[in-house]
Formats: sequence, C-alpha cells, structure tokens
Amino acid sequence: MAEELNPFKIAQEQLDEAAEVMKLDKAAHAILREPMQTLTVHIPVKMRDGSVNVFEGFRVHYNNARGPMKGGIRFHPQESIDTVKALAAWMTWKVSLANIPYGGAKGGIICDTKSMNDSELESLSRSYIRAIADFIGPKIDIPAPDVYTTPQIMAWMMDEYSNIVRHNEFGVITGKPLEVWGSEGRGDSTAMGGMFVMREAAKMLGIDLHKAKIAVQGFGNAGKFAYSLSKRLFDAKVVAISDSEGAIYDENGLDMEKLEKAKSETGSVKGYEGGQKMTNEQLLESDVDILIPAAIENQITGSNADKVRAKLVLELANGPVSPEADKILHEKGVLDLPDFLVNSGGVIGSYFEWAQNISGYYWTADEVYQRLDKIITKSFTDVVNLRKEYENKGQKITPRTAAYIIAVGRVASAMKTRGWY
Ligand code: NAD
Repeated sequence: MAEELNPFKIAQEQLDEAAEVMKLDKAAHAILREPMQTLTVHIPVKMRDGSVNVFEGFRVHYNNARGPMKGGIRFHPQESIDTVKALAAWMTWKVSLANIPYGGAKGGIICDTKSMNDSELESLSRSYIRAIADFIGPKIDIPAPDVYTTPQIMAWMMDEYSNIVRHNEFGVITGKPLEVWGSEGRGDSTAMGGMFVMREAAKMLGIDLHKAKIAVQGFGNAGKFAYSLSKRLFDAKVVAISDSEGAIYDENGLDMEKLEKAKSETGSVKGYEGGQKMTNEQLLESDVDILIPAAIENQITGSNADKVRAKLVLELANGPVSPEADKILHEKGVLDLPDFLVNSGGVIGSYFEWAQNISGYYWTADEVYQRLDKIITKSFTDVVNLRKEYENKGQKITPRTAAYIIAVGRVASAMKTRGWY
C-alpha cells in the first residue's frame, strides 16, 4: 500500500510516537493532537483583467499554552488546510524546542503568485489581513513569511493591520524589510541557524566541512542562503542545487554568480553553464556527505530513502522526510536532523524582530547571530543529550523523537501548570 502522505496525519503520527515513548498524559496527548482553532476565509480580489478571483485562505492556531502564537504565511497553489494544520503543529514544537515564549500557528492562501502582478498580490495580502485581523496581533498571533511570501508582502500586511487598529503595530508581523523595522540578520536567519546545527552535527560525526560535499534541494530563501553560507562560513563545497525545474551537479563545486545568471536568464538553475543536469530525485540520491532539503514536503519517502547516500540530512524545509523514510534513514545510520530543530533559526530570528519591535530597541546583525547561535546550539545539545539518556536506558530513539519529547514535554507542562488538564 502506498505510504499515507497527508501532512497533518504525519504530524499526528509523529506526536503519537513521541507520546508513547515519553508516556505522555492521555489528556495532554488528546489536546495536542488537534489545533485549538482553524479559520478558513474566502477573499475576493479584483484582477488586472477586470475579473474577480475568490481565493481560499487559512489561519490555524495550534496551541498557545506557552505564549502568543507564531507561524508563517504561505502562498501556494497546492496549499490545503491539512498542510497548514501540520505546519501549525510543527511550529508549536519548533518554538518549544527553541525554548522561546511562543505557541504555534500557520497560515496560507491557495494562489499561484507566479501568475499574479504586484498590485494583485498587494490586494490579496491586504484582504487576507482584513479577513483574519481579529485572529492576529502582537500578543495573540504573529505571522511571518514562508513559501512564496516576501518581506514586501509582510510590509503590506503590517500596514493594513496598522490601518485597522489605527496605530503603527510593527510587532504584528515579522520578516519585514528593515525600513519598517525588520531585524538585521532576519533575512538569512533560517539558513544561518541551519549552518550552526550543521557545524555541531559535523563535529559530532567527524565530518570535515572544508572537505565535505553538500547538496541543497531548493533555490529559494532557505536554499540559496544555505548554499552561500556553507561557502562563506566553512569554505564548504556545494556540489548540487535545484529548483522546481530540476538540479545541477558539479563535483568541483558550484559558482553563485553562474547560478544567479542561469536563474535570471533561463528561469532555472538547470540553465547553469557547465556541470551535469539532473532531476530533483537524482539530487537526493547523489554522492554527497551532507544533504540539505530546502524546498517542499515529502521529498524523501519510503520509496527513495534507502538510496540516500549522505551521512547527514539537515531538514531545512518543513516536512521533507516522511515517517517511513525517517525510520529507514535511522536504520541505515544516517543522522537525519528534524526540520523543527534545523530550520528554527527563522522563527528565532522572528522572535528577535518582535522583541525589538516591542521594546523599540534595535540590535546589530552580529548581536542577532550570536544570540541565534546560543539558542539553536542549546537546542541541538538538548536533543543529543536526551538521545544519550534514552540510549543509556537501552532505548534507541531518532533525533526527531528526542526533539518531540523535549518540545511536547514543555507544552504539556505549561498546560498542566495552567490547569488545562
Ligand atoms: P521559497 O519559496 O523562497 O523557495 C522554495 C524553493 O523550492 C524554490 O527554489 C522552488 O523552485 C523550489 N521548489 C519548489 N517545488 C520544488 C520541487 N518539487 N522540487 C524541488 N524544488 C522545488 O521558500 P523558502 O522560504 O526557501 O522555504 C523553503 C522551505 O523552507 C519550506 O519548506 C519552508 O516551509 C521552509 N522554511 C523556510 C523559512 C524561511 O525563513 N524562509 C523558515 C522556516 C522553514
């Protein structure tokens, strides 16, 4: 039977597995299996040809026991309520594992940004905020960018929310441009956090980053910075990179200028001059030490996990490894570090932006990176230590299960202390 890839079912399955291992209280488990609230909105937008398109959008509040909820907004043609619910659950675990004072949420709109111009996008963004305005706020739920949403879109959304509440509310949304009080270092904080995790994991596995071969799936915000920071911070060699059209491989390492040229002239990294063209599937199975999926969900599944040759998989995307694949990688001895650890730099950066907006006191990029390093390295160490603890008791658990146990445990304790069960 084909593997079930409904993202929300996967998120529930992962929780169930952790709940069993950690012997989670039944009431806490039941509360945490479902989101607290889900909102579906239908947004009419006047398009440039005079027609009206009605877009479907979502905002999901998963859990707020530890603080106001935080989570990005995705603009994607295949967006669905189940994807948004799964991502809201993962946000809950992510902010808890990072031990920052938030709960988890997520939003999305079913739309194809590639076919829309700026004024249609602005209109859609502002209308979405009007539709969900009662659901968000700096003390309630603070959105941020995600797949196919940009700092400019965040600026329009912040402006619309400020119009509604009749005062500037910069702290309602993060990932804004610097001109409207975004944070220094926020743009690459997801990948930067992933790099700090990669540094620690490589140290643990004895991988020399200077000599290692790295493949990155995805050439967006997360993937592009993962590529350039690998080179800048560790002088590492990224030998393969891809976008939705396909991948390019060069065992001598790829060149950023040539990648940018290929992207702007041909629309895809596949147009790279030199190297070897391959498919996204082939990239995942290529001969590398470190594989960084940084595109979309369910890229490594039961059908290709045994072909992965990397020793370390860093899940910079959300949900790129299915539960079946997780087990296969674990059994093969591949260290697969879970999304909500590896890509938590984004939300940690967002947390810093919100903290600066609320206090009105702004930090330098170096201050941001140093604080990010401290928080994410602590998360990595917590996961490694918990795995050791279980191993000492004779039970081998995956890094994902360890991360779940820490994150779920913190949310369950907060709910218990608040008297929710
Ligand atoms: P993005 O829209 O900037 O880039 C997405 C990239 O993936 C693009 O290069 C696109 O061409 C590529 N892509 C799309 N479909 C693909 C396919 N089928 N195969 C291969 N490549 C494909 O998005 P992003 O912000 O870089 O986010 C990527 C992932 O990282 C998502 O899972 C997102 O949830 C996660 N993430 C991003 C951030 C952030 O701060 N940007 C934070 C946390 C998690």
